[in-house]
Amino acid sequence: MTDPIASPIRVRFCPSPTGNPHVGLARTALFNWAFARHLGGTFVFRIEDTDASRDSQESYDTLLDVMRWLGFDWDEGPEVGGPFGPYRQSERYDVYADVARRLVDAGLAYHCYCSHVELEQRNDEARAAGRPPGYDGHCRHLTAEQVFAYQGEGRKPVVRFMVPDSTISFDDLVRGPISFASEHVPDYVLVRANGHPLYTLVNPVDDALMQITHVLRGEDLLSSTPRQLALYDALAAIGVGSGRTPRFGHLPYVMGQGNKKLSKRDPESNLLGYRDRGFLPEGLLNYLALLGWSIAEDRDIFSMEEMVAAFTIERVNPNPARFDLKKCEAINATHLRALPGGELAVRVVPYLQRAGLLGDEVTDDQRDLLTAVAPLIQERMTTLAEAVDMCGFLFVGEDDFTVDPDDAAKLLDPAGVDIVRTAHAALTAVDTWQTAPIEDALRRALIDERGLKPRNAFGPVRVAVTGRRISPPLFESLELLGKARSLARLAAAAAEVKASQ
Ligand code: GLU
Ligand code: ZN
Repeated sequence: MTDPIASPIRVRFCPSPTGNPHVGLARTALFNWAFARHLGGTFVFRIEDTDASRDSQESYDTLLDVMRWLGFDWDEGPEVGGPFGPYRQSERYDVYADVARRLVDAGLAYHCYCSHVELEQRNDEARAAGRPPGYDGHCRHLTAEQVFAYQGEGRKPVVRFMVPDSTISFDDLVRGPISFASEHVPDYVLVRANGHPLYTLVNPVDDALMQITHVLRGEDLLSSTPRQLALYDALAAIGVGSGRTPRFGHLPYVMGQGNKKLSKRDPESNLLGYRDRGFLPEGLLNYLALLGWSIAEDRDIFSMEEMVAAFTIERVNPNPARFDLKKCEAINATHLRALPGGELAVRVVPYLQRAGLLGDEVTDDQRDLLTAVAPLIQERMTTLAEAVDMCGFLFVGEDDFTVDPDDAAKLLDPAGVDIVRTAHAALTAVDTWQTAPIEDALRRALIDERGLKPRNAFGPVRVAVTGRRISPPLFESLELLGKARSLARLAAAAAEVKASQ
């Protein structure tokens, strides 16, 4: 299976811009990208937008946005250009019309005038007679009179590909040798009666014209490969492309909940959801790499550079892969913890901005605060968006600061409020507003003098100043919040509870 790989390597990632981009797409992009980068090949990004009823500009924009977010770079494609452009199929209709015409002229495809009703009727007859349904080749060899008569009726023909009657075999890069008897492959439509070219035509035509050497794509497309291979031969015969058929490798299915194929509609499929939650692109990609590939036994964590260095198709496993959101989160958390603190401080900014905690312009003070708090929250985070709850208390305007009502109900009861008052008094006396003196003052007042257990002593203080029971370490949080704001919040917590009692 490891024939010396023809150079130069050219692969393509060619999604259709429909709906929101999903995990399966990103996995396909990743494997193609890593393959190209490993071998010094070319990664082509092509947009298969020939289905006007399903494609949308919004999906196209989102797709590019998500590709950039994930950190993929493409050598040819939208916004980058390249020698085989345009890379949006909706801009290539004249190319497809020309190829379709040449296929018909060469006798490799033909006009079919059958109506839907006729096709259905003959399918029914085939079923009744125990034959497989599917196009029966009716219009393969129409006479000039028959064509004239159909045209006289005002029928508009589709263009059908004449699938040759031979066994089609290929050596799948992932699954090994595969063969299909093509008498089971009916002649299929390449161009609709209204002149609109279909995926069946445009995908192989562009692979041929763009000189694609390797096609790595999902297993759901395996059944279409034999008929596409037959078309490649026809394209070669009429001189479209280099005449070299690409090698195919079909990436394993991804299974979701209940051992069912992960569907685009499953919530864990939606790539935008991962970005919204603040997954790191490198964390998500690391996890997606494991859906069918492994870098080594017992090794889950790696960088994209390491993946590129190690990636070979031989290590792609044909067995279905299981999508496990918990594992995806754990891998993301590992990457997140490995970020340099300064880097984490930068990465959380868009999430704090989205939550309204930072403005478009981040001030130097805010940057310093972020850099200081980052190491305090890093170990507790799984995704970047969690920074909003974890350190929002430092960035929220005093007028907007609120205490979580549930946490307040539990911890700011009369005993808790009493603790808050004591803390307020003790902290008022602290002159050097730093973690150590803050801690000393609170321990002395609450633990030494009042004999409280640390857990009971510090919980109410934490809720009062951070708004939540879960926060970065308390004394550091107080230092970062500053004396004035800390005291104001303690005072407010005491007063508010008093007022509502
Ligand atoms: N546009 C096709 C899809 O999204 C690409 C299929 C292929 O990779 O050949 O399914
Ligand atoms: Zn027909």
